Amino acid sequence: MKTVIEPFRIKMVEPIKLTTREQREALIRKAHHNPFLLRAEDVIIDLLTDSGTSAMSSEGWGAMMRGDESYAGARSWYRFRDTVKDIFGFEQVIPTHQGRAAEHILFSVTVKPGSIVPNNTHFDTTRANIEFVGGKPLDLPCAEADDLDSDYPFKGNMDIAALEALVAEEGPENIPVIMVTVTNNSGGGQPVSMANIRAVSRIARDAGIPFYIDACRFAENSHFIKQREAEFKTTPVIDIAREMFDYADGCTMSAKKDAFGNIGGFLCTNDAALAHQERNILILTEGFPTYGGLAGRDLEAIAVGLREILDEHYLDYRLFSTRYVVEHLRTAGIPVMAPAGGHAVYLDARRFLPHIDSLQYPGQALAVELYIEAGIRAVEIGTVMFGADPHTGEEHPARLELLRLAIPRRVYTQSHMDYVLEAIGRVWERRENIRGMRIIKAPRFLRHFTARFEWV
Ligand SMILES: *Cc1c(COP(=O)(O)O)cnc(C)c1O
Repeated sequence: MKTVIEPFRIKMVEPIKLTTREQREALIRKAHHNPFLLRAEDVIIDLLTDSGTSAMSSEGWGAMMRGDESYAGARSWYRFRDTVKDIFGFEQVIPTHQGRAAEHILFSVTVKPGSIVPNNTHFDTTRANIEFVGGKPLDLPCAEADDLDSDYPFKGNMDIAALEALVAEEGPENIPVIMVTVTNNSGGGQPVSMANIRAVSRIARDAGIPFYIDACRFAENSHFIKQREAEFKTTPVIDIAREMFDYADGCTMSAKKDAFGNIGGFLCTNDAALAHQERNILILTEGFPTYGGLAGRDLEAIAVGLREILDEHYLDYRLFSTRYVVEHLRTAGIPVMAPAGGHAVYLDARRFLPHIDSLQYPGQALAVELYIEAGIRAVEIGTVMFGADPHTGEEHPARLELLRLAIPRRVYTQSHMDYVLEAIGRVWERRENIRGMRIIKAPRFLRHFTARFEWV
């Protein structure tokens, strides 16, 4: 059959509250034109994030009932740990309440003021956690990542020559960790090839620098490798994932992404002495090392989710559903990042609204219009998110001005996506009348979450 179906049946539903355009105009004004400040029930299709928004399966919910809530050494902890070890292969597993807690602990023990941490592209919490301890996050995306139109299959790759030059110039003593994010979330949900991971790993090992994978979307990345890297055409996705982690010394993971969790994360390493230091911080900030800020039932749900996410029928459907939206937008001539990434669709706000300057936040303006048009919530990934230096407060245009429409896992159907396509088409029709925005009030770190905006 050519038709790709959602490979699940719906057993429980959550009604969507519908609103009128007039209501939405008032609601977004009350939210200071920042979709993060809306009430979720005032959103019709919520594409703000794919993080923690997945639909769990009957197996996942069933597993929660057998959560062992013992403080130390619970059965649920061992099930969680053994599943993580089996797939990721690292010796030390440290549970955390989210991915950012794993990042904070990792950088607290490895990064010193002035240290440089390269990545293909740092995610916003990763960048902020490095800056918070005085380090310098550095993005080294491959050159192909800049061309939003090309169908280059691995736009998430790291620039290998730039990484080599950095290690030669700065020396391993100033680079405590080299990271690669799979898939590259801030770079468009684009995959990283196994060849690229091998090359990064070789550089890291030759220089004696630990290599960490930001593993949030490891299953989607592995499936892209299967589809696009000839060598892996017939390799089971779980084996692709295992090989990927084999090249690394550790990982940070948000279980809110490729583990179908509503909460959770973990930090892995093969370095027992480092893990000892990390567990000391864990006890201070998260909890005892066999639960780390999670309930036993959460550990159970994640253990089930990590297996389900590697189901290749699910991954076929998952990558197809994102491609479905991107291909329809491209056919309509609407500027969108190509090829389709794994978890999200990225409108190119710079070309969608060429009359709006970067410092008037075209991505933010587009987010506001899409909400007013159809109650769709999406997030700006551009100058609002990355344009301000938290130490000097200085602003500069981001490399890309994107609006990310993240697709929650197993939550929306094709008709929901058709509604999204119609709404984007309508905003596209009236794009010339859309105005830029300015910031009224914003905090220093991670300003996009709470900044207040007004039209210029
Ligand atoms: C979501 C995410 C994180 C942070 O994880 P949280 O669970 O939200 O704290 C880190 N890196 C990437 C690539 C992510 O997508």
